[in-house]
Amino acid sequence: MRETKPETWSLPEAAARLRSGEISSRELTISCFKRIHEHDGNIGAFLCLTEASALLAADASDERRETKQTLGLLDGVPVAVKDMILTEGVPTTAGSKILEGYRPPYDGTVVAKLKSAGAVMMGKLNQDEFAMGSSTESSAYKLCKNPWDFYRTPGGSSGGSAAAVAAGFVFGTLGTDTGGSIRQPASFCGIAGIKPTYGRVSRQGVVAYASSLDQVGPFAKDVSGAAIMLQAIAGHDARDSTSVKQAVPDYLQALTGDVKGLKIGIPREYFIEGLDAEVRDSVQKSIAALQASGAEIIDVSLPHTEHAVATYYVIATAEAASNLSRYDGVRFGPRLGDQNGLLSMYEETRGQLFGPEVKRRIMLGTYVLSAGYYDAYYLRAQKVRRLFADDFKNAFQNVDVIVCPTTPTPAFGIGEKSDDPLQMYLNDIFTVSANLAGLPAMSLLTGFSKQGLPLGTQIIGRPFDESTLMNAAFAVEQTLNIERDLGW
Ligand code: GLN
Repeated sequence: MRETKPETWSLPEAAARLRSGEISSRELTISCFKRIHEHDGNIGAFLCLTEASALLAADASDERRETKQTLGLLDGVPVAVKDMILTEGVPTTAGSKILEGYRPPYDGTVVAKLKSAGAVMMGKLNQDEFAMGSSTESSAYKLCKNPWDFYRTPGGSSGGSAAAVAAGFVFGTLGTDTGGSIRQPASFCGIAGIKPTYGRVSRQGVVAYASSLDQVGPFAKDVSGAAIMLQAIAGHDARDSTSVKQAVPDYLQALTGDVKGLKIGIPREYFIEGLDAEVRDSVQKSIAALQASGAEIIDVSLPHTEHAVATYYVIATAEAASNLSRYDGVRFGPRLGDQNGLLSMYEETRGQLFGPEVKRRIMLGTYVLSAGYYDAYYLRAQKVRRLFADDFKNAFQNVDVIVCPTTPTPAFGIGEKSDDPLQMYLNDIFTVSANLAGLPAMSLLTGFSKQGLPLGTQIIGRPFDESTLMNAAFAVEQTLNIERDLGW
């Protein structure tokens, strides 16, 4: 019987079975590792497994359950995190050779929070190098395949985080989203992924890509699973000065499915030529589902959308060039060429251990920041960035959430865009605006293409209003009630 297979369970289903005593955390953890060992050789979601410590954590969880000291819904649930996030004593490479062998001396705040919620950490997940990419093909370690079609990418940069959930390896994961890296792979892999409001979740102990855009967020098969994960990681952190002192509401309680009178904005600039017809249909179905549940559909305009990708790639590369200057062979990871002096050490270490996409970004970023071009590119991009925030501000005067596509197409093929950076960047057209404006946004599964590929819908919310956003997503999910069957 399928339903007895843990790989088909959602996070809330796994939590319910742990609570009822139908399965212990140890049994669940072992069964997840079994599936990982059977299939991850093909999928490539994990960069590192932490079996021994996971089993210890599972046993501790079972003991708490026996003595009625269970910590909450995540207690005993197998999870994993993207390799951008620091894990004490456990290799953290950010998908790069320049951090090979690096074992951080502490856990990132989000990891510490998951652990203190009782979650069982299973390992670290594959990603594009330094989170630069949309396909996980720039990982310096290995390819990651889409669990729905092994010839396609899982998206990126948090491809491993999305694939691990979709494949039924673990029940929840964390990723990072600088320009879409949670929402796009969630969409490609047919699961839910949330990029919270900038400042909602601590970035302490997270490898920095573009600090003014980066945000950590959860993946799970369904919206309530993602809500449970977000609950565990959200909140102010004194060690991240950009995290915001805002009360964290009870997210599960917000998932009523009641969207009567909710005003849904449909941005006309997102339904453009080049949008795949099946993606468009699945977004339309989500809109119809919300309307049938009593929501009001309102046409809105986000007039600067066409400039989003250009603006994003100026700001993101500028910040990346600056952030990545710390990898020089001195502080972390391997050191090359030091026998020939300091300069040679820098050159050899950075020249050999950064991959081509990272080098491209550092060069772009250095260029837009350089004396002669700063005003023309970086300063200008900062000004345009403000216009995106204004666009959303205007729209949110009339609507509560915005519903639109997550990606222009379903998952693309491995190798299809990897030789053409511009094509890869253009894939981010619908996701980067939310980062530029700092808004919460999520993607959820809203259909399958005729070829059997997952299709996603994106919902964007007001700052710090993840509750309304997730409730709208929950209403769509309940109404559409989409069956998922990987077939393996
Ligand atoms: N694809 C985008 C980029 O390459 C977004 C990546 C991300 O969100 N980390 O920059």
